[in-house]
Amino acid sequence: MKKLLLFSFAALLLALAANAQEPDEYCGTPPGIVPWLRDYQDNPSAFLRSNELLYVPLTIHIVGSDDGNGFYPVPRVLDAFCTLNRDFEPSNIQFFIEGEFNYIANTEYYDHDYGAGFEMMERYNVPNTINCYIVSSPAGNCGYAVYSLGIALNKGCTTAADHTWAHEIGHYLSLPHTFSGWEGTSFQDFDPTPSSINGRPVERVDGVNCQNAGDRFCDTPPDYISNRWSCRSDNSSNALQTDPTGATFRSDGTLIMSYSFDECASRFSEGQSDAMRANLLNQRSNLLYDQSPAVYLENANVTPITPSEGAMITDANSVLLEWEPVVGADGYIVQLSLLSTLGFEIVYRSFPTTDTRVEVTGLLSDRDWLWRVRPYNRYDGCTGYSNAFAFETGNFINTTREQVAPTDFNIRPNPQRAGNDLTIEFDLPVALDLSLNLYTMAGKRIHGMQLNAHYGLNRIEMPTGHLEPGLYLIGLEHAQGKQFRKILIQ
Ligand SMILES: [Zn+2]
Repeated sequence: MKKLLLFSFAALLLALAANAQEPDEYCGTPPGIVPWLRDYQDNPSAFLRSNELLYVPLTIHIVGSDDGNGFYPVPRVLDAFCTLNRDFEPSNIQFFIEGEFNYIANTEYYDHDYGAGFEMMERYNVPNTINCYIVSSPAGNCGYAVYSLGIALNKGCTTAADHTWAHEIGHYLSLPHTFSGWEGTSFQDFDPTPSSINGRPVERVDGVNCQNAGDRFCDTPPDYISNRWSCRSDNSSNALQTDPTGATFRSDGTLIMSYSFDECASRFSEGQSDAMRANLLNQRSNLLYDQSPAVYLENANVTPITPSEGAMITDANSVLLEWEPVVGADGYIVQLSLLSTLGFEIVYRSFPTTDTRVEVTGLLSDRDWLWRVRPYNRYDGCTGYSNAFAFETGNFINTTREQVAPTDFNIRPNPQRAGNDLTIEFDLPVALDLSLNLYTMAGKRIHGMQLNAHYGLNRIEMPTGHLEPGLYLIGLEHAQGKQFRKILIQ
């Protein structure tokens, strides 16, 4: 029976996905009001209530591709987790991270359709927690929630400045959109505004039908906008709407359950907060198994142990970074940066650890380095990085040759038609001066360019205009080595 229900729900979602006009929607949560919320809204006093702070466990699944790329970095997860808790503070709900981050390397889940998303959740869900999956593309959305399973979030929509995580957890705790009923339609297409849409009463400005119309919360005003919208300086919508009686209004963009842009949104209404708390206390009391008080890391100071400030590392290509434990911390992010010759900082590597030390290998010769430590714990992702501590490395160039070489050197498309550009990509662990050359197979250089390539992914377009069809070599060359790729021009 359970399987059957789930299948039909999946089929519904797939049908919705197929109908979606925009490939990149904000939220893929199915429309409608969950039966539990209907019951609650019909008679809130029949439900257990409490004013106490509720602690709610999250399992955070970080999903990457098959080859282990694309995992959302832990510091970004913590930034977003901090925003999530701030969004829920007025609702008196505090989330905590249960267990370790769960890394899943699976391309089908990393960029998934609803079917694969459901399968992922059934496979990896940890019971009695809200399961949050951070992926590259959750069925083409910024996020979605499945009431019976969990939520999926797009990495790009899960930053410190976004409220997508709060929005999807809002759904998971029973909230519909403020524009409930209007999903998939456009209010401009209706003139005059009908009194019902998709079988649901349309909410009026005077509020007389607020208990049955829209999201059925009377403290969220009417809202008919089901695609993302920018707000005015007072956070109301630019779009002026007209209700079925002819009264005009603008939507309230402060509400996280609307589709206003993230910079407009900041809150849940009191009625929404009460409903989410009642959902936890009644339908999801299994989530409330650990109500031990939170530990916060305000004013956490980090004291380095080694290397000593300004030390010169001369005899090895590894260094131990160690610091005094911070009271209350469950883990740390260590950020190691390189000072470029121009004086600006390049983040070289970041290490999440539950220890109070990391060993860094593969350092570059003859450089100035800065490192910082950011403590966190299961309740608190809001602590920033410590002050920077400095050291330098001496000259041990012979041992580090491989570390500076470009990786993931790719040329596409290959083959390419003459006259069309080639895209050349490579990844660098440090900024490097390179030359990029095009040779005949006999080794004659036809074309070349000098590049001040930067740290990380570099992408260069190379024209093929005057080339005869045939095989060529493209070389990426720098002071310490050369790499070549064959390319076929047709
Ligand atoms: Zn939504």
